[in-house]
Amino acid sequence: MKHRLTSRMLLGHPAERRTLGLGSLGLLGVLLPYTLALWRSMQGFDAAAQWGLHVEFWFALLGFALLGLQVIGSYIGNGINHNHSHRPTMATRNLNRIFNVVLTLIVGYPVSVLKIIHGLNHHGEFGSSRDWSGTHQLDSMSFGGLIRYTLRAFRSMNQPEAKARELRSRPALEREIRREARMLLVFVALLFTISPLTFLIITLPAWVLSNFAAVMINAIQHGGCDLKSPTHHSVNFTGSFYNFWLCNNGYHTWHHDHTDVHWSDLPARHREQLDRVLAPQLNQRNFLKYVWRAYGPGSTLSIKDPSKTPLLRAWPVQTEFDPTHPSLWVQDVSSPPAESSPPNSIPS
Ligand SMILES: [Zn+2]
Repeated sequence: MKHRLTSRMLLGHPAERRTLGLGSLGLLGVLLPYTLALWRSMQGFDAAAQWGLHVEFWFALLGFALLGLQVIGSYIGNGINHNHSHRPTMATRNLNRIFNVVLTLIVGYPVSVLKIIHGLNHHGEFGSSRDWSGTHQLDSMSFGGLIRYTLRAFRSMNQPEAKARELRSRPALEREIRREARMLLVFVALLFTISPLTFLIITLPAWVLSNFAAVMINAIQHGGCDLKSPTHHSVNFTGSFYNFWLCNNGYHTWHHDHTDVHWSDLPARHREQLDRVLAPQLNQRNFLKYVWRAYGPGSTLSIKDPSKTPLLRAWPVQTEFDPTHPSLWVQDVSSPPAESSPPNSIPS
C-alpha cells in the first residue's frame, strides 16, 4: 500500500518505473566515462609506465565500449523523451522539470524542443511537406536514402524563425527550453573540465550518433507507407525486446492517431484494434531484419513508383472514416479482412 501511494505521488503512471530504470542507465552511460577518468587521474599513474603498454590498449577498448553504451543510453533517452513529451513521466510539474533536465543531459539537447519538432510539427503536419521530419525527404529505400533523409530532416528542423513563431504563444515552454539549455551548458562545461578528451571522443560523438539515429527512425517508421491512409501510414515493430528497451515506441500506428494514450497501453490497443486490419508488411517483429530487408542492398523497393513497392504498399481500407473517432474506429476494424485477398497478394 505504501509502495503504491509513493508511486502515485511521484510517477504519472505506474509503468513509468521502467522509464526511470532505463533513464538511469542512460545517465550512467553519460557519467561513467567521467567517473573512470576522475578515478584514473586521482590514482595519478601513467598506466603505460606502470602496467605496460597493453593497459593503454585496454583503456582504448574500454573507451569504445563506453561510447557504445552512451550511444545506446542516449538513444533510449530519445525514446523516453518521445513518450514524455506526449504524456509527462512524473506526477508533478516540478518533478517533470527535474526529469526534463536529466533527460537533457542524457540526449544532449534541451528536450522540451521535441514538443515543437514532434508534437506540434510532426503530428500536426503529418503527411504534408510542412512536416520537418516528413518522408517526402526520403528519396530512396536504401541506406544512402536514410542518411540523406536524416541530413535533410535535421536541416528542416533547424528553423529558428518557425520555432520562435510557435514559442511566441507559448512563453512557459520557451522558458523551459531556455532553462534546459542553460543547464546543458553548465553540464558540458563541467564534463569538459573533468576530462576534455572524454568529452570529445565519447560524449559528443555519442550525442551526435544517437540523435542521428533518433531522427532517422522517422523515415523507417513511415518510409514507403501511404501517409494518407487512416491505418497504413506507419510501420510497427512489435518485438518484445525492442519495445522493452524503447518503452513501446514500436507501436507507432495507434500512437500516431491517439497521442494521449499512455505508452504502456499501446500493445493492447494495437492487438485489439490493428492486428486484424494492418497489412502484415506494416506489422514487423524484428526491427533489424526489417531495416535490412527494406533498405539493405537487396531491397527492391522504390518509393518513387508506388507500383513497384508491393511489400510496403498500403492495403486500402475500403471505408472512409475519421480514425480519431473511437466508436467508428471499433466498428470499422471489426470487419476482418477477406481471406481471399490478403494485403500481400494485391497485384502491383
Ligand atoms: Zn509521437
